[in-house]
Amino acid sequence: MARETCGILSRTNFHRLLDALSAKGYRLVGPMVHDGAVVWDTIQRVSDLPIGWRDHQEPGRYRLEQTGSQEIFGVVHGPQSLKPFAFTPREPLVQIERSKDGFTTRSTLPSSEKVAIIGARACDLAGLGIQDQIFLQGEYQDPYYATRRGGLFIIAVNCTRALQTCFCASMDTGPCAKNGFDLALTEVDDQLLIEAGSEAGSDLLSALSLSPASQGLTRQAAALGDACAQSQVRRLDRTRLPQALYEAHEHPRWDDVAARCLACANCTMVCPTCFCHKVEETPDLTRQNSEHSRLWDSCFTQEHGYIHGKNIRPTIKDRYRMWVTHKLASWIDQFGTSGCVGCGRCITWCPVGIDLTEEVSALLKSSEQRSTSSRPQEAPGR
Ligand code: SF4
Ligand code: SF4
Repeated sequence: MARETCGILSRTNFHRLLDALSAKGYRLVGPMVHDGAVVWDTIQRVSDLPIGWRDHQEPGRYRLEQTGSQEIFGVVHGPQSLKPFAFTPREPLVQIERSKDGFTTRSTLPSSEKVAIIGARACDLAGLGIQDQIFLQGEYQDPYYATRRGGLFIIAVNCTRALQTCFCASMDTGPCAKNGFDLALTEVDDQLLIEAGSEAGSDLLSALSLSPASQGLTRQAAALGDACAQSQVRRLDRTRLPQALYEAHEHPRWDDVAARCLACANCTMVCPTCFCHKVEETPDLTRQNSEHSRLWDSCFTQEHGYIHGKNIRPTIKDRYRMWVTHKLASWIDQFGTSGCVGCGRCITWCPVGIDLTEEVSALLKSSEQRSTSSRPQEAPGR
């Protein structure tokens, strides 16, 4: 069978893609409306997806609106990225059982499950790529992450509408999927343009025997992506990073933002790249068994900065500064890439509407003014 890399499917035939994935043994996961937000959940059919819904996001604000259209992927994203699929909020690591002469341990590696995620966005793929780097590509590979990650089949959706909080274009991560997907869809009117990004994706496309996409439709899809990038109202200037943030370490803006920040940790929970975690022992009531688990943690909590009898980040200012400086400066030194992918979730889900792009712009603007004013002045008339 010839391998396909591109094809089109009408909205009314979209179920064929879901049926083909189910036939291959995948559990289907897609965006669903629950309690006023879109979250990932197991879906059975196309009608489980948020058809006709659109999301509106601003600093500290998230609202869904039903438009009455047949658009399948009108909602850009909810609070969850792809992070929980591989780096789960709670991962049991070891079961410990007391024995006569001590204790025995049993590893609790998750069983691998085939999960097809329908509707990942470009920023989510970029975030997952960073998580892969952390958990899989270092000196030690995390077997729990590797097992869950290995079962994922990812169907991306290229964004054709930007939220008020998006700034992926300035981070060079979106709005169209670049890599890290098996299939990528663009919804153009009532058609879905489908592109394969992996061998598995290409195999699935071949099995579906889709009509080839016309040049006109392909051009229309590309134009929608370009217009989406152009429409983004937020951006983050990366030209002087990481150095400019290191130089801003004593900047008064940190006091300003610390006075507004609640240290609630929402920003780190919704961030697709944050990977702080802690481990916890949970003994049962008999005290004969215990579970050793890994849990998401946040650099915004008091406890996270507590090391060897001393808290190294006792104030909110210390913690906010550490978060931003790691994301946008030391992350680059550590991993060769920015720790922010421009998804805007930390802006939407911050209860007091702290906007990362605004804070960084204020820090960089003043640092630019300082460096300009400290340059030697040329003599007039030269
Ligand atoms: S720092 Fe904010 S905008 Fe950047 S990736 Fe994390 S949640 Fe998204
Ligand atoms: S979500 Fe906002 S208030 Fe909460 S810790 Fe992050 S910046 Fe502070």
